[in-house]
Amino acid sequence: MDDNWQYNLRNTLKSADSCNLFFQSQQFQDQSFPIKIPLEFANLINKNDPNDPLLKQVISAPIQAQSGFSISPLDDEKYMPITGLIHKYHNRVLLITSRVCAIHCQYCFRQNFNYTKHDAISNYLAIEDYIRSHSQINEVILSGGDPLSLSDEKLAQLIEKIENIPHIKNLRIHTRSAVVTPSRITTKLIDILSKSKINVVLVTHINHVNELSDVFTKAIQEFNNVTLLNQSVLLKGVNDSVSILSKLSTELFEIGILPYYLHLLDKVSGAEHFLVSDENAQKLYKTLQNSLSGYLVPRLVRDENLKSKTLF
Ligand code: SF4
Repeated sequence: MDDNWQYNLRNTLKSADSCNLFFQSQQFQDQSFPIKIPLEFANLINKNDPNDPLLKQVISAPIQAQSGFSISPLDDEKYMPITGLIHKYHNRVLLITSRVCAIHCQYCFRQNFNYTKHDAISNYLAIEDYIRSHSQINEVILSGGDPLSLSDEKLAQLIEKIENIPHIKNLRIHTRSAVVTPSRITTKLIDILSKSKINVVLVTHINHVNELSDVFTKAIQEFNNVTLLNQSVLLKGVNDSVSILSKLSTELFEIGILPYYLHLLDKVSGAEHFLVSDENAQKLYKTLQNSLSGYLVPRLVRDENLKSKTLF
């Protein structure tokens, strides 16, 4: 059972032909950001609904050139003092731990990122030297790609090295794999994170309540001593409604995950159709604040080159 996730990671829908066959449609076309849909996620999609909110996240739309969109909206490379490490904020660094994702989300701001050039695992010795020589850094964030595409063994080795840096108190792991391939939440992974010597924060990336499968819901509640937070991206046609966002927050809380961030779209070329205007986002957010207890309302933020800026 515990090894199923590696099989599932390989057995994905990866071409327009395979998707059209699976969904019995002609909607898919091969696109610049290649299609990748794990079967665990594909099976949650309603094949009879062309507007299914999960389907919309993985299918491309005709290009609608719009000003302000670019291939690299956050310019990560500006903040990489060494290969594989992003240092934008005083007290924390982000490691590009993997180039692999379980799914290709068509709104992804890193879809054009040069992962080959920036691999934290192969450059780990230099990264550790950098962190050790910057004693103000107290948090390491594992990102990617998706850090959970690493094997449990590699992840355990990496976490142990990070734990042994005296001034690192917090480890944060950002993952979409956990929800789109819930078989990835192995008993070994649960053990590694639950027994860490430092504070572990697992940030799931979940945009819609339909992504919460029974397997995920059961597995995520097995973690101990791990803070569970969620971040979503506000996506037109997927989750830009108060009822959907309220339901997501409520159900996340029921399974022990606190809604943390609601990101405005990063303006990457090809994702124009997902954009919710600032004005509409603000209106929606105010209604959300009136509908939910404060602790269920994620913070509405926009990533800018230097900061995740809280809005409204
Ligand atoms: S899982 Fe995250 S990094 Fe990977 S394609 Fe989706 S949004 Fe991008």
